[in-house]
Amino acid sequence: MSNTPQHATTYSGDIIGGVPVITHLNLDDLESGRIYRFMFQGSNMNIGQHWYVPIMVAKGSQPGKRLLLNTGIHGDELNGSRVIQQLFATLDATQLSGSIIGIIQAAPNSLFHISRTWYSSTDSGEFSNMNGIFPGDKNGNSAQIHAYLLWNHLWQNNCDYAIDLHSQSTDTEYPLFVFADYRVAAIKTMAELIPADQIKNDEGEKGTVETTFVEHGIPAITIEIGAARSYQSKYINRTLEGIKNILNHLQIWNCQQGRTAASYGSFIGNQMYSVKAITGGYAEVKVSLGDDVIQNQEIALQRNAFGDVIHTYLAPMSGKVLSLGTGATREAGGLLVRILY
Ligand SMILES: [Zn+2]
Repeated sequence: MSNTPQHATTYSGDIIGGVPVITHLNLDDLESGRIYRFMFQGSNMNIGQHWYVPIMVAKGSQPGKRLLLNTGIHGDELNGSRVIQQLFATLDATQLSGSIIGIIQAAPNSLFHISRTWYSSTDSGEFSNMNGIFPGDKNGNSAQIHAYLLWNHLWQNNCDYAIDLHSQSTDTEYPLFVFADYRVAAIKTMAELIPADQIKNDEGEKGTVETTFVEHGIPAITIEIGAARSYQSKYINRTLEGIKNILNHLQIWNCQQGRTAASYGSFIGNQMYSVKAITGGYAEVKVSLGDDVIQNQEIALQRNAFGDVIHTYLAPMSGKVLSLGTGATREAGGLLVRILY
């Protein structure tokens, strides 16, 4: 837990759609046994108006651990929003020990244009991947300032554990998949409470939400929920099942234990390899998510505009299909098949 003195919960005085706007959150200031909705004031735009992040907080009647659920860092990854909405619809704060925070649209700018990136209008416009710039920079561009505000005014001092909900990017898909840094025992435990299809033991990447939490001593995992731009109830429901297991394990909510990685039979790998297009053209992927592939098996091909096969792709190793390119066209560097092994 952080020793940084916490700023008090601060209301700007604005109300949006009946929901109060806050510039800082401090869970200690909130009354116990209640569920709250806030609009968190993020960075502002060239037109002088702010981006607002809708958040929900369930503050339990009893003290306990604090779990942060975040989604919407990438604006085309939407399954996570339904996970948080469904969880909060079933919560009774008087039954909780500790707190749950749900951040539904962490990067509203990116959600607005259904994109992986945040658009800043400065210098003819530039795009930032929000999941690489944490803990942000208060003197940076609007994306970096927004990351700074999320980290410092909302997240860091208000949670003991964090889960960042993503999906694969537009034109690609994952099954239900977890990134987790197994060097930290508490993280391995969290990951294996999720009945995921696949789990990767992964040391993380600097600047991501997950790794920034881990670097600050807060156990965190990333859950990749299926494909972009859609709601996939089979993955949403299974994610919720896993998050309830974690809430149960952390003794925040004494709810029914669901399936785990062990009982579901999750495939756990340490390495992954992405087979990417080496040229532009029409792509045909020959495998499905979760398939077992063997080395040198044909997994994809590409055709030119006339339908001639211009390249065939073989599996460089044996493993399990973790992700697919689903778009019919692929330019060079585009993902065809990712293998976990
Ligand atoms: Zn993402």
